[in-house]
Amino acid sequence: MNPVIRTKNLAKSYGKTPVLRNIDLTVQAGEFTAVMGPSGSGKSTLMNVISTIDRFTGGEVWLEEQSLLQLGKSELRRFRQEKMGFIFQDYNLLDTLTVKENILLPLSLRRCPAEEMEARLEPIVRALNIRDILDRYPSEISGGQKQRTACARAIITKPAVVFADEPTGALDSRSATQLLEELVNLNGTFGTTILMVTHDIYAASYCKRVIFLRDGAVVNELYSGEMSQRDFYDRILETQSIMGGKVR
Ligand code: ADP
Repeated sequence: MNPVIRTKNLAKSYGKTPVLRNIDLTVQAGEFTAVMGPSGSGKSTLMNVISTIDRFTGGEVWLEEQSLLQLGKSELRRFRQEKMGFIFQDYNLLDTLTVKENILLPLSLRRCPAEEMEARLEPIVRALNIRDILDRYPSEISGGQKQRTACARAIITKPAVVFADEPTGALDSRSATQLLEELVNLNGTFGTTILMVTHDIYAASYCKRVIFLRDGAVVNELYSGEMSQRDFYDRILETQSIMGGKVR
C-alpha cells in the first residue's frame, strides 16, 4: 500500500480549546474518502491542517512521506502548490479569466511551456466534458460548470491529493449529482486521491470510505467495499443515527 496522507496523534487547539484530538489517519493513494460529522466536530479544521492552510498544534502529518513539520513557511507554500489541489464550495474562480485560463492558472504561475499545458488540459477537458465552455467567463456559466472548472484546475497539476470542502454545497441536486459522478470518474480515470468534507450522506455515498468525526476525534469509519451505492447510503445513515446528533 502507498499512503498519501498519514497523521499520528494529530491535534489542534485554539487557545486552550481542543478542536482535534489524537487523530491517526492513513489515506492510501487512489482513495476517495469523505469526512463526515456534526457541525463543529472539526471536519474543516482537519482538512485545513492536513492541507497546510492552518497549523496543527500537536502530533505529526506526512504527505507522501514528507513530514510537514520539517518544512519552513515558503517550503510549505511550494509543497502545497505542487502536491495539493483544492475545490471549495464557492468555486474560487477568477472572474476576469476565461474557464481555460482559470484551469491553466496553476501551470501559468509555474511558467509551464504552452505545449505541456495543452497536453495536460486535453484529457481533463474530455473527462469533465467542458470543451464548449473553455472560452467563456465564470459569469457566463452555471454553478455546476463552475465547479467542474474548479475540479479541472485542482487536478491540472497532477496533485498527490485533492481536498474538497463541501464541493456540492452551493449546487442544486442535479448539478451536485453530476459533480459527484465527475469526481468518481476522475478518481477512476486518473487515480486522483480525494478527501472530501461533506455533511451530506448522499454525497458521502459516492465515496469508497467515510470517516466520522465527533468532538474532534475519529469515532467510526466505513468502507463501501462491494456494497451498492444504495446499501452504502443506508449504512452511512445507520452509522450516523447510532452516533446521534445532527450531521451538518
Ligand atoms: P466543522 O467543519 O465540523 O463544522 P470546524 O472544523 O469548522 O468544524 O470547527 C471545529 C471547532 O473549532 C468549532 O467548535 C469551532 O467553533 C472551532 N473553531 C474553528 N475555527 C476557529 C478559530 N479560528 N478560532 C477558534 N475556534 C475555532
